[in-house]
Amino acid sequence: MGTSEYDFRSFYIGGEWTTPSGRERVDVTDSSTGEVMGSAPCADASDVDRAVTAASRASEGWANIPPSERAQMVSDLGDRLEARLEELAVLEAREIGTPLEESREGQVWQAADFLRALPESVDRIRWEETARTALAVRVPIGVVGAITAWNFPLQIIAAKAGAALAAGCTVVVKSSELAPLSSFIFAEEASKVLPPGVLNMVTGLGGVAGQALVEHPGVAKVSFTGSVATARRISAAAVPSLKPLSLELGGKSASIVLDDADVEAAVRGSLSNAFQGTGQVCCATTRVLVPRAQLSAAEEAAAEAIAAEWAVGPALDEGTKIGPLVSAQQQGRVRQYIDSGIAEGARLVTGGVDAPFERGHFVKPTVFSTDNYTRVAREEIFGPVVSLIPYDGGDAGALAIANDTKYGLGGAVWSSDQARARDVALRMRTGQVEINGAPWDGTAPFGGFGESGYGRENGMWGVEEFLSWRALHL
Ligand code: NDP
Repeated sequence: MGTSEYDFRSFYIGGEWTTPSGRERVDVTDSSTGEVMGSAPCADASDVDRAVTAASRASEGWANIPPSERAQMVSDLGDRLEARLEELAVLEAREIGTPLEESREGQVWQAADFLRALPESVDRIRWEETARTALAVRVPIGVVGAITAWNFPLQIIAAKAGAALAAGCTVVVKSSELAPLSSFIFAEEASKVLPPGVLNMVTGLGGVAGQALVEHPGVAKVSFTGSVATARRISAAAVPSLKPLSLELGGKSASIVLDDADVEAAVRGSLSNAFQGTGQVCCATTRVLVPRAQLSAAEEAAAEAIAAEWAVGPALDEGTKIGPLVSAQQQGRVRQYIDSGIAEGARLVTGGVDAPFERGHFVKPTVFSTDNYTRVAREEIFGPVVSLIPYDGGDAGALAIANDTKYGLGGAVWSSDQARARDVALRMRTGQVEINGAPWDGTAPFGGFGESGYGRENGMWGVEEFLSWRALHL
């Protein structure tokens, strides 16, 4: 391919842009056109080793800087990313297909905001506590390996690396091979505010660079976002070194519409949540649970909302609400799920398997009416596909279905009675619940139960993931 502004050739290691020793490269496609838009080098084990060595060398100096000063430097990085918001929003829109308007806020502003929230987060942490006579002191855990997914490339790096840095750890980031481009800009801006070696960045293949990072004896902890299958591989690879992990995985989250809710508003709100990022969001509420008597009203509301509000189109078109999926492979996977729903007898309310455009990785926003036992209702699809599921037996019946999943990441409750909604939310086996479409707080703990993983990101809880205790017996 020819050179473009998005052909990156170096890794950021030890405060310098260095030539990779790995010879492989990956091409990155524009999701709306399917054409190559850039490329990145693939790290081999020796690149990863250089990055971990640089991070280890920088560890002591960084850990000795007071937490509030460290966090302020990381917060300055957030300001720098926001100064490049439009450029980064266009890049993410092309690289992964998030509609431009959503990309500005959901991909870039949110990443900047995670970083800017860190001074407040470190101030809330009790860095020292007393036992009976001993002093317990919080200490950074050491070098952190951050392995990130493609669906929020910049945001996930900001959440992991930002929190680890604020905790006093040094970091090696390995971003996704499908969406590595913004990590170069993250590192470029980091190079202007952070001391050398504190943040190191490589790109490359999970099975090579990611694996080398997990196995490296110099890495004290790995923080991972991605699929359950990869999480199992990483868990096994971490056993010999007994390395602790944080795992942020998938979900099949339920939005419970109670029988006193405005069903139309609740269905519209649930779709807004489920269709963020064209459905490629781990905490998307892709199961909408409605009282059986209101199922047909819910189906009608869903079909009308999709026709009126969810325009499918290229990510850079301002009117687009549903962009393409990240890759042709993901498009094929989602279309197979839609086929499976039809084959299993789930009723198609709207959408379907036909691709709306010839070019790019598009699928139609699709709603099924089904029970909780079809594959479309049980498995994480990672596309704009929602199941409307009727329930009987009041709130307890809804909760039984909501909790009948191996996942436990997101959730929602809709009710005209706030106290009742809260009571239901507290009985959902999941990491977070939005009540009546409340705005998402990026400083609240984020993470899962069951196969949605463990560990928490964001706010002071995200920083605490990278801290351990040292007891001083005085
Ligand atoms: P993966 O789990 O394959 O990839 C996530 C990250 O792990 C990538 O950086 C990947 O590198 C890396 N990786 C892959 N294999 C290894 C390994 N053996 N050791 C260390 N690191 C490794 O997720 P995908 O991106 O392929 O997405 C697949 C599915 O995962 C989605 O369809 C969705 O269901 C789920 N997912 C969930 C996300 C969430 O937010 N919870 C985010 C993204 C995906 P590489 O890019 O080279 O593969």
